[in-house]
Amino acid sequence: MNVTVWNENVHEKTEPAVLEVHPHGLHETLKGIIQEIPEAKVRVATLDMPSAGLPQEVLDTTDVLVWWAHMAHEKVPDDVVDAVCKRVLAGMGLIVLHSGHYSKVLQRLLGTTCDLRWRDGAYERLFCIEPSHPIAEGIPPVIELGIDECYGERFDIPKPDDVIFSGWFDIGETFRSGCTWTRGYGKIFYFQPGHETNRSYYNPHVRRIIQNACKWACPKVYRGEFGAPEIRPTLEESRLGPETSAK
Ligand code: ZN
Repeated sequence: MNVTVWNENVHEKTEPAVLEVHPHGLHETLKGIIQEIPEAKVRVATLDMPSAGLPQEVLDTTDVLVWWAHMAHEKVPDDVVDAVCKRVLAGMGLIVLHSGHYSKVLQRLLGTTCDLRWRDGAYERLFCIEPSHPIAEGIPPVIELGIDECYGERFDIPKPDDVIFSGWFDIGETFRSGCTWTRGYGKIFYFQPGHETNRSYYNPHVRRIIQNACKWACPKVYRGEFGAPEIRPTLEESRLGPETSAK
């Protein structure tokens, strides 16, 4: 399983408080989480690299792309957004974290604004409400997360395939914190925790959720491998010969 962790890497250059929590950047913190999966090979990519860190040869060898972003959504070149979305439709898994909800990639794939209600940090409790889902494997019914940024409903997303985690904040908000979708051959997971100055990515349950999500989203089949889109005989043509169904 080849995982690429993409981070815009902007806060890290301007806010010392972020480096106190993520000394080598959010991408290295996230890489450390995913490297705990024995079968995972993990790379990092950042916006300041050529082609925003995601040239075609990187995408072509990525099974799961993990996306963290906040300040610089508009700076991601449209041709990179196009290539990422195309690769997801062909089968690449996509894990979008926290403020990545506003990324062009997620907005394009979901077709909505992905807008939400926002408040500053609050105490968050995360409820696992779909415990039989593979992303919930080994996760307790309730996670006492501590302080993270408060996101609230309505979260402007299309109906998810599954809502696995529901966030509750002690200032009176709830949020669909862990949602999945299928787009083309690709699986998508959005997961809310992970504000840049909070410590949610050091919570062992959050780490397990991100690891489970990478394993779940890793494609079993890519679009080309399934036989599309070339023309092939219909089952009737195969059985009876082409003349039978040609009219
Ligand atoms: Zn945030």
